[in-house]
Amino acid sequence: MVDLAALLGEDVFAAPTLNGFLAQGPRRWARVRARIQQVLAGGETVPGYPLADVTLHLPVEIADYVDFYASEHHASNVGRLLRPDAPPLMPNWKHLPVGYHGRAGTVVVSGTDIVRPSGQRKLPGDDAPTFGPSVRLDIEAELGFIVGVGSPLGEPVAVDAFADHVFGAVLVNDWSARDIQAWEYVPLGPHLGKSFATSISPWVVPLAALEAARIPLPGQDPRPLPYLRTALDWGLDVDLVVSWNGQVVARPPYRSMYWSPAQMLAHMTVNGASCRTGDLFASGTISGPDPAQRGAFLELTWGGAEPVTVNGQSRTFLRDGDEVVITASAPGSHGTRIGFGEVAGTILPARSAPRGPTR
Ligand code: MN
Repeated sequence: MVDLAALLGEDVFAAPTLNGFLAQGPRRWARVRARIQQVLAGGETVPGYPLADVTLHLPVEIADYVDFYASEHHASNVGRLLRPDAPPLMPNWKHLPVGYHGRAGTVVVSGTDIVRPSGQRKLPGDDAPTFGPSVRLDIEAELGFIVGVGSPLGEPVAVDAFADHVFGAVLVNDWSARDIQAWEYVPLGPHLGKSFATSISPWVVPLAALEAARIPLPGQDPRPLPYLRTALDWGLDVDLVVSWNGQVVARPPYRSMYWSPAQMLAHMTVNGASCRTGDLFASGTISGPDPAQRGAFLELTWGGAEPVTVNGQSRTFLRDGDEVVITASAPGSHGTRIGFGEVAGTILPARSAPRGPTR
């Protein structure tokens, strides 16, 4: 792990987060990257620390957090599970990147333990909701994008201006309590079923490192409205791996995502909403066409009806003590592979609920 403050002698790197550097913009990102590559290629002794000797923190102070729903396979699978008698996709899905606003203050770094959330849930067959620990705690394997340069209130970011604003990508695990979510989310969307914690990987892979991973989108029909169209648009050939208690259970392919990161940013700001340094917007669960490519246990176990075998045990949703690790890699320059590090988390038992006033 290179100590950039010591290597470059710049105060902006002697800070607890990358926000100051990210706000400096793409020309500066490119210069710093070139300088680091030059030093590493030159074989000089580089100031730094072994990765095993450091504690990794959140790479950025998260400003706002938006989560999209950009995988057609995921959205279709969830539609079939939750609305079996209706078309799998809602009528809006192919016209705009559907998303919701998450809770920036509960975005945590990989390795942070996740306390099982409690809340209201109305289980099948129950007449009324009950309160208690979630019994359908799940993961969502996603990529997230970090905004470096913000935009003014009232001015949309054009779909072609993506590279002027976005610095890079992180791995995201959008922990989801399906029972809490199912009872609360109609008609305003996910709330407490997701806001208890969202984990991200501790380093940001710059977009500049992902040029060899750029690929065409799988294709959009119908053609989106003009503000979502660009001749330069691209997806990313990133392979994710989901491990449950050390066993690989899914390999979600980012290349199958329907909406591009540039379309997500353009849509997020088209109403004039500003974005800020440190904004995180995530892709939504990444699922491919194959059952072994599903990035959430809800889909992987088909709503819990088709358990998977993990270390010899039949499993559906997360138990206390379970650990989930998501890793990813992508093509780099000259046949290399770029690693994204990992996003890991272990489930702790629910805490007892606060009591109401005694009478
Ligand atoms: Mn999500």
